[in-house]
Amino acid sequence: MRVLEKKDEVRNLVARARVGGRKIGLVPTMGFFHEGHLELMRLCRSRCGLCLVSIFVNPTQFGPAEDFDRYPRDLERDRALAEAESVDLIFAPAVEEMYAPDSSTVVLENLVSRGLCGLGRPGHFQGVATVVAKLFNIVQPDMAFFGRKDLQQLAVIRRMVRDLDFPVRVEAAPIVREPDGLALSSRNVYLEPEQRARAPGLYRALYRGAGMFSGAKGDTSPLLNEIHREIESATGGRLEYLSAVDEEMEEVDDASDCRYLAAALHLGPVRLIDNVEVA
Ligand code: AMP
Repeated sequence: MRVLEKKDEVRNLVARARVGGRKIGLVPTMGFFHEGHLELMRLCRSRCGLCLVSIFVNPTQFGPAEDFDRYPRDLERDRALAEAESVDLIFAPAVEEMYAPDSSTVVLENLVSRGLCGLGRPGHFQGVATVVAKLFNIVQPDMAFFGRKDLQQLAVIRRMVRDLDFPVRVEAAPIVREPDGLALSSRNVYLEPEQRARAPGLYRALYRGAGMFSGAKGDTSPLLNEIHREIESATGGRLEYLSAVDEEMEEVDDASDCRYLAAALHLGPVRLIDNVEVA
């Protein structure tokens, strides 16, 4: 497995693989791998001849008061984990390699990115869409792999690919959870033991809520209020949002139109997000 830091090296290596007829797969990440990342690598490995994982903590998707500086990083550990999954190539550029100091062009998705996390994290999805567009242009993958944990991100990327005609097939992988239901996240390491013990209350309430929504009709408010109360009392956290949304991340008024329940919860120093599909 190679670890490359320069865009040109990546382009050259990928070009050679493409001439050899291999399908190119990309798994964009911010590193500090857990089983969720590894599942994406396995999916990529099973579908593509060249499996490339990018590790880049992208400053433009963090707000000024957010955790860019203290986002967990461990390239040596990530390298060993990726190697064990038979990844061919890690692309781990420095910020200066990715962004010119006077970089002035962005990708702005204007609909799917507005609600949910877009409200509490202004500029976040612009940063995400821009860096993913750049990675797509550097790597020119046939397929790119994203997790359903970041459901709105997935929807934004699908939109961007459709609207800007990127010749990339976007594949989604299911959410990987701890045995007690907590969705894996690199940030979970910052939960205190007591917070960690209460954190699965988010998933449990969403799961129960999805059961309540299934087959339900009419106003979503009474159901959402009940789930809201349950999440906050089970976790001791503060909900940033709890939304009933359709496939396009648009909030629905009628329970029968709800496809997902999605939430962001502040628990101690960590902002957890999760979602559950309504069957
Ligand atoms: P990140 O490194 O957090 O930016 O995540 C990189 C990719 O892994 C994204 O496509 C995420 O949606 C995906 N991912 C993160 N956590 C999980 C999880 N628990 N289950 C499935 N995919 C995940």
